Amino acid sequence: MVEKGRAAIFKGLGQPMEIVEYPVPEPEPGAIVVKVTMANICGSDLHQWRGDIDIAASGTQLPAILGHEMTGKVARLGQGVSTDSAGEPLAVGDRVVYRYFKPCGRCPACLRGEDAACPVNLRYIKPVEVPPHFTGAYADYYYLRPNQTIFKVPDDLSDEMVAPANCALSEVIYGLGKVGLGFGETAVIQGAGGLGINATAVAKDMGAHKVIVIDGIKERLELAKAFGADELIDMKEYKTPEERVRRVRELTGNKGAEVVAELVGFPGAMAEGLRMLGRAGRYLEIGNISPGKTVEIDPSTLVYHSKTIFGVVMYGSDTLKKALDFLSRTKDKYPFDKILSHTYPLEEINKAFEEQDKGLVSRSAIVM
Ligand SMILES: [Zn+2]
Ligand SMILES: [Zn+2]
Repeated sequence: MVEKGRAAIFKGLGQPMEIVEYPVPEPEPGAIVVKVTMANICGSDLHQWRGDIDIAASGTQLPAILGHEMTGKVARLGQGVSTDSAGEPLAVGDRVVYRYFKPCGRCPACLRGEDAACPVNLRYIKPVEVPPHFTGAYADYYYLRPNQTIFKVPDDLSDEMVAPANCALSEVIYGLGKVGLGFGETAVIQGAGGLGINATAVAKDMGAHKVIVIDGIKERLELAKAFGADELIDMKEYKTPEERVRRVRELTGNKGAEVVAELVGFPGAMAEGLRMLGRAGRYLEIGNISPGKTVEIDPSTLVYHSKTIFGVVMYGSDTLKKALDFLSRTKDKYPFDKILSHTYPLEEINKAFEEQDKGLVSRSAIVM
């Protein structure tokens, strides 16, 4: 008898996800089938579920399995696979993390060595009716295509710590690398959500002298502090962009920050953040992912102050390995196990989405 696995399928906006069973695929040569153990609900999954990002309108065939932050164990290895992407021996039962997207390898971005910018990456949600079926996180299995990046998880890191590593953590490691955050520099982190919390710890680990975190929610600011923030700017106290820009000036000896990272997702944050930069400062744009929302900026300030803006989506092929190494190195220093607040079984996925959407839970995961 063919073994089957469950998948929560998304049929369209406003419809509850439904649990359906599909046959577990036999991996083609070079492919890997993973038994998923934990899958998180990330902000972008909520955007897709709510329709802020209309995946059907942008060409994704539904129904499909949503979700991208996950971890699991190797269930089946395709012919020819004997190691992970770092060259470590890989066997059935090994705990793993992996990129949830696979660049094409032959577009202009890929050929320039910028495979994070490959347009194929953004089309990672595939129709579930087409084999190998298991191409999203909210399911018992996940199918890695040949040459999709995968790394073994060290024993000392829990599922709770590594499940989000292939999204927020890798994204900010890659982004802060792109803007070249340097030893002794000051970084401003706009937004203390999942991205901001990770960025704070990564910036400290990269040698930032001072990390200033801005948010309006007390619990998030407290978490930022636990993740290494040197200074907090509470938006309830500093209510206007002017006040916050002035506060950053005060905290940087009036010179402004070398790096400001937008990790909150409001277009207005960009206009504000650019003003927090000092001369030759670098702005990192990651948070704004809902198309069509705009903001007014004065481009002459970029010219006269030699400021640079970097937009970054996804991350490089070796970033996830760096993320695991970072977690091993700093797991006793920062409370990575505090980021996740609730877990739900796959059958309760609709409840999990509704509760996170309403803000009843801060960050939840589905456990298989
Ligand atoms: Zn994510
Ligand atoms: Zn490509």
